[in-house]
Amino acid sequence: MLHQAGYQAYLVGGGVRDLLLGQQPKDFDVTTNATPEQVKALFRRCRLIGRRFRLAHVLVQREQIEVATFRSGEAAEQSEQGMIVRDNRYGTIAQDALRRDFTLNALYFNSMDGTLTDYVGGLEDLRQGVIRLIGDPRQRYIEDPVRLLRAVRFVTKLGCQLAPETEAPLFELGHLLDAVPAARLTDEVLKLFMSGKAVATFQQLEHYGLLAILFRQTTEHLALADDLITRPLIEQGLLNSDQRVAQGLPITPAFLFAVLLWATVRRAARHLQANGTDPYPALHQAADSVLAQQNQVIALPKRFSAMTRDIWAMQFSFQTTKSRRAARLVRHPKFRAAYDFMLLRAQVGDVDAAIADWWTRYQARHGPAPSRARRKR
Ligand code: ATP
Ligand code: MG
Repeated sequence: MLHQAGYQAYLVGGGVRDLLLGQQPKDFDVTTNATPEQVKALFRRCRLIGRRFRLAHVLVQREQIEVATFRSGEAAEQSEQGMIVRDNRYGTIAQDALRRDFTLNALYFNSMDGTLTDYVGGLEDLRQGVIRLIGDPRQRYIEDPVRLLRAVRFVTKLGCQLAPETEAPLFELGHLLDAVPAARLTDEVLKLFMSGKAVATFQQLEHYGLLAILFRQTTEHLALADDLITRPLIEQGLLNSDQRVAQGLPITPAFLFAVLLWATVRRAARHLQANGTDPYPALHQAADSVLAQQNQVIALPKRFSAMTRDIWAMQFSFQTTKSRRAARLVRHPKFRAAYDFMLLRAQVGDVDAAIADWWTRYQARHGPAPSRARRKR
């Protein structure tokens, strides 16, 4: 369509990269010399989005395709710290290649003649399995600190290695993420943990000291020597989640956050209890304060944080095995998630096996059907 109208148009980014790696592309991004307004004029089902980065979303046979105009990257508007706040200066395809993040994300496929254009050595890096930032790595991370997390994501997703100059700043520049708006960080962090590679992601983030920026409370808790539950709980929880993704089962960020922050919440709750608060209100207050702190960095949408809170609150109710209360609990809309979380705790010795067994038998007779049939997210 763009071609027919006389514009240049290329497939670029993850779609091209994944195809060349023999992986199933998640989506396709198109880049063109047409401006967003010109793109909009061509397609009936098209909307323009983005401020920092203006794009056209085009619906083609129920697939949403992102169409971006070649950017020059130069003279992009920057904050005082050197972060790009807006980049809508249009340029040539060669300039567009240079403002992309990694070389293997800057391969341009022309569907008209089947040619692949490579301005930055991306093909060679792809062959070698190397993730390499285009240009001066430090500067590119400073421009957009989210690239730190993208580097980690592509390592775990593609099973590639970071080039040494691309890797080194990861250890040092994590603090730059503090300046990234929570909404954008949330998107990237959820992509990282929902990808089916959550175990590897967690290890990498910890390795580079990035976990401490994203989940400070969790990191601090993990550093406490007296706690033998937290790490196994997180590792097992992330593993279960990866296995669900591999089986095509749905996962929810609410559960991941419940796993990552549980130990912190319980610690805070115990502290409140020691100061005279009753156990149940203590759990709620602790949940509030832990979620509020976490929200300053990663703004989990309300519907998810509400569910995280429900999962935690129900852990309290699982302690009693009385049929009348149980009957009420199994009807709770988030019972299944809370029950799964309790089983996870039992797996690592955080809940009595006898209690877990009781609930397993009880919910088999009275509980809701397993979540298998539910649609993803
Ligand atoms: P996936 O879709 O598998 O998550 P992707 O590489 O397609 O991976 P997108 O976020 O869809 O990632 O971005 C599409 C392309 O846009 C990237 O391949 C890259 O060329 C460019 N890009 C995305 N984010 C950035 C960024 N922060 N800095 C520079 N270029 C970027
Ligand atoms: Mg993509």
